[in-house]
Amino acid sequence: MTRIDDLPIRDELRGKSPYGAPQLDVPVRLNTNENPYPLPEPLVERIAERVREAARNLNRYPDRDAVELRTELARYLTRTGGYEVTAAHVWAANGSNEVLQQLLQTFGGPGRTAIGFEPSYSMHSLISRGTGTGWISGPRNDDFTINADLAEQAIAENRPDVVFITSPNNPTGTAVPAETVLRLYDAAQAAKPSLVVVDEAYVEFSHGASLLPLLEGRPNLVVSRTMSKAFGAAGLRLGYLAADPAVVDAVQLVRLPYHLSAVTQATALAALEHTDTLLAYVDQLKQERDRIVRELWEMGYEVTASDANFVQFGRFEGEGAAHDVWQQILDRGVLVRDNGVPGWLRVTAGTPAENDAFLDAVRELKKEQEQSA
Ligand SMILES: *Cc1c(COP(=O)(O)O)cnc(C)c1O
Repeated sequence: MTRIDDLPIRDELRGKSPYGAPQLDVPVRLNTNENPYPLPEPLVERIAERVREAARNLNRYPDRDAVELRTELARYLTRTGGYEVTAAHVWAANGSNEVLQQLLQTFGGPGRTAIGFEPSYSMHSLISRGTGTGWISGPRNDDFTINADLAEQAIAENRPDVVFITSPNNPTGTAVPAETVLRLYDAAQAAKPSLVVVDEAYVEFSHGASLLPLLEGRPNLVVSRTMSKAFGAAGLRLGYLAADPAVVDAVQLVRLPYHLSAVTQATALAALEHTDTLLAYVDQLKQERDRIVRELWEMGYEVTASDANFVQFGRFEGEGAAHDVWQQILDRGVLVRDNGVPGWLRVTAGTPAENDAFLDAVRELKKEQEQSA
């Protein structure tokens, strides 16, 4: 059998593994930060209607510039983000991962570098690698906040072309204050200048406001968003960004022609008509997130403050300890995520019943540990 490494692939891909959370067939899956609620039936009907209309024109290529969709996304951002943007400020693609890839193809690439502050979203480094962009791992404090002094220093020393700031951060849930973003933006402009990408995949779950207003007067700042989390439409594959219109023009240089199918555009437009219904679940999930934090804390676990729809908990001391606990929780029918952060695991806020199952499992574990101690 031919192995990948027997093929004439690029050297930097040799011996690497693809991104992937294990998808196991267990009753309670709280491992990929999805919204646990299926789309409401009236929205399902509306999607079917709009897709039927789109189907009549599938002999033609879709709107290459997705103008109607970008207009609706801009309307949503303006209404909820505290800053007015238009279609010219917005760009959409197949998931925010494709948005990030297009940004790295445009602003990164061979001979260039990107920096992120880790632990953070592993796709930032993986897409960097895939686009031939060098990766620099920047530091965080022990409580997983970004240390602005050390981050500024890392930017000044490495002079990266792209800076990733994930707020709220995945897998820790940590939000980044606007002051920190501004300091890193200024440091990045002084060093290079470089593109600063704020990944706001989870911002709808945050206690605080979006960083969208920081776009004012900052042409090298990008805010990226997705419909995969708060909108409960991970299967749709729709991500988008807001930035200076020049950034939107720049990514056109690398996007594939007609990258966003007419079916995707129709589905996303239908979902945006039901924004309020979809976001109604967000409040409930935030409450459940806070309940998970509180109950884990009461059981004696350490918990990282979370502004997302997931909670990082620990601390499991010893080599491989977090993975052992991951397995023990799985043995009780609940799948959480081991992101490889030593001593910590991550659980996504699900339905109240799913969260109960998770909390019961870890409560039981804690009891067993105490009895054997
Ligand atoms: C889930 C996630 C995304 C979303 O990716 P999509 O391609 O839009 O599904 C982006 N950034 C972060 C930090 C995430 O956790």
